[in-house]
Amino acid sequence: SSLAPDLYITTDKLIIRGDIGKGHFGAVKVGECKIMGSFVPCAVKNLTGSDIETNKNDLLKEAKLMQQFDHPYIVRLLAICDAMESSGSLMLVMELAPLGSLKDFLSQHNEKSFPEERLLVLMNQVCDGMAYLSGKNIVHRDLAARNILLVTENFAKISDFGMSRIFLESDNYYKASQPGTWPLRWYAPEALLYYKFTSKGEIWSFGVTLWEVFSYGSRPYSGLKGREILAMLEGGKRLECPCGCSPGVYTIMLQCWAYDPEDRPTFNDLLLQFKVFIVFVVR
Ligand code: ATP
Repeated sequence: SSLAPDLYITTDKLIIRGDIGKGHFGAVKVGECKIMGSFVPCAVKNLTGSDIETNKNDLLKEAKLMQQFDHPYIVRLLAICDAMESSGSLMLVMELAPLGSLKDFLSQHNEKSFPEERLLVLMNQVCDGMAYLSGKNIVHRDLAARNILLVTENFAKISDFGMSRIFLESDNYYKASQPGTWPLRWYAPEALLYYKFTSKGEIWSFGVTLWEVFSYGSRPYSGLKGREILAMLEGGKRLECPCGCSPGVYTIMLQCWAYDPEDRPTFNDLLLQFKVFIVFVVR
């Protein structure tokens, strides 16, 4: 597949202001982008200088994937700005999530200031977005609280498709050739052991993300190394119930962390469970 030609914009349609985040390659900046005649707020992933040759293809791959998505809980790609000739930069322009990452947001809150029912509303949205991705045979491979962004305090979006892959329907999984700089703490055992990525592995990562969220941004398996985490999981141990988290929510986490992928729920299963929680907890 290739990028839709109408995604390309010229530099005069882009105003770039300050930094909002630090990415893997280069800074993410906030700005405004002219779309259909008016300027809208945006976030710009900018590749410049020596990064550009090594990472250009990765950034274009990310854009190609993002252009296929049309979902309220997934960050939208607005445009691509190729200014290689003029300023030697390549920019991926996305809709802005002004409140930044859920992890950073929650680390400034607690059960009183941002209670469980509000966490559930956000994670229900993330679950909805993940159900959409798994329906498209896509594995995100970097689902974590740091990659969930907030448009408002009650509106979350999944972002960062730099590691995402499409797999064939017939295969049911994506097989990585070798481990890279992976977010091991979020990965299911079969991903760690056999480099196998499926929607059931994504559910595992969703469970870890739930744990992070209900722990208000704590680091999972803090103090343990990758190998120690795997040993712990193989020994049947799991992350503990976050302080103040209701048993029903912790039960969902434990379901997500079933050792056998087949024993884990699907995102659609979880959507039903969230619906029940939200009706009974929020009202
Ligand atoms: P990594 O893979 O290391 O997480 P990356 O290079 O893929 O980094 P992103 O995670 O996409 O980069 O972005 C880095 C940071 O920039 C995010 O943590 C977030 O704070 C900010 N950011 C990215 N996209 C947006 C957006 N659409 N709206 C607001 N902030 C954003």
